[in-house]
Amino acid sequence: MNIAIIGAGASGMTAALQAAWRGARVVLFERNAAVGRKLLVTGSGRCNLTNDAARAGAYACADPAWMETLLSGFGLRDLLDMLAEIGVLARKTPDGWYYPISESAAAVVDAFASALERAGVHLRLESQVTAIRPRGAGFGVHYLRGGREAEEPFERVIVAAGGKAYPSLGSRGELFAALAELGHTVLPLRPALAPVLAELGSLKPLQGQRLDVGASLWRGSQRLAATRGNLIFTEWGLNGPAVMDLSHQVSAHAGERLELSLDVLAFCQAEFDGLLAARRASDLPLRVLLEAFLPPKVALTYLKNNRLDPDLALRQASEGGLARLKAALNDTRLAVKGVRDFEYCQVSAGGVPVTEADPRTLESLRVPGLHLCGETLDVVGPCGGYNLQYAFSSGALAGRAAARK
Ligand SMILES: Cc1cc2nc3c(=O)[nH]c(=O)nc-3n(C[C@H](O)[C@H](O)[C@H](O)COP(=O)(O)OP(=O)(O)OC[C@H]3O[C@@H](n4cnc5c(N)ncnc54)[C@H](O)[C@@H]3O)c2cc1C
Repeated sequence: MNIAIIGAGASGMTAALQAAWRGARVVLFERNAAVGRKLLVTGSGRCNLTNDAARAGAYACADPAWMETLLSGFGLRDLLDMLAEIGVLARKTPDGWYYPISESAAAVVDAFASALERAGVHLRLESQVTAIRPRGAGFGVHYLRGGREAEEPFERVIVAAGGKAYPSLGSRGELFAALAELGHTVLPLRPALAPVLAELGSLKPLQGQRLDVGASLWRGSQRLAATRGNLIFTEWGLNGPAVMDLSHQVSAHAGERLELSLDVLAFCQAEFDGLLAARRASDLPLRVLLEAFLPPKVALTYLKNNRLDPDLALRQASEGGLARLKAALNDTRLAVKGVRDFEYCQVSAGGVPVTEADPRTLESLRVPGLHLCGETLDVVGPCGGYNLQYAFSSGALAGRAAARK
């Protein structure tokens, strides 16, 4: 089997290894001068490989059963085994996020590069694929290298060219036109896992502050999505997993009036209620009560916004004042303006719908012999290693299937 793989990212490198290990001749096309350019920056250079909770229901995918089939074909255990096989040992944090023991994305990329070489994968670096055309029983892959156009024939092609996120690292979405030409649907690409543009309003003093919160996205009285996680207040809005995990919903409802609700007690509600009840009749100042759970700047901002004296003793606080404060701590609403652009997002939503690929083989249901994997398909996972798990899983299944006659 003579296979072309387009894109040497997480999914393409995995596909190449799995196919080459099964005896196929594999040519891996990559527009960059080196493999794994995006993998290098993942997890802030530490590469968050996967997550204990990487199950179908965690993903934004049009067909959860599709995702379930895919992950049962190549799941977390299979990934850890494959990584160990190429020399990457992973360890998980107490909250279930897996990183290489080296904590180095560069070491992971190096292990992939070495494994590709040992497996005999032919690398075509600095080669940008421009078209995939049916040719005989297979395909002609057209590409630009050193300003020259070339074409090579293959029996099968795996498209692992990513989406449109962080385009400076190589994935710019140009191959979607070629996929549309071959008969695939291409859903509009939108930023996902992106910082959210929002009006901070009364929380403006918190710029630069980092906090664990509960966040939910609202359209009028309809709750569109909810998450929990770390959040950073910035000059243009909000960053961090808590809002990035909601951002694909923001970009899906572009132009509509959306609000973000923040619950700054989401991780300590029971302790807060307990302390308040125990000290309600005491001289503990409101400021000290809040500072048991929140950084001083956050505590003071919430007290000021609710017109409460920070030094007021709990026994002197009115029920009405406390109720107002608790309501604000649990549900402060911010107007959402949109999301930051592809340059600032970690993945893109949109692309080819999953319903156009077989989840067991990732073979196109429109073009036999063509396989699609990774971010080229319309799948988005939350922060925490879910997107790499999906990229590795889909790449592995595509590579294995393409290598079978
Ligand atoms: C800053 C950042 C941090 C992230 N951190 C994490 C993390 O810690 N954990 C996690 O799970 N996910 C993380 N992600 C998301 C994760 O990196 C992606 O989900 C994953 O890389 C997608 O893999 P892929 O193989 O589908 O696409 P990509 O990694 O984008 O690879 C596609 C490759 O195809 C090449 N290519 C594109 N078009 C062509 C063409 N026409 N010809 C030749 N080559 C082409 C590109 O240059 C690229 O190398 C992060 C993303 C970013 C941007």
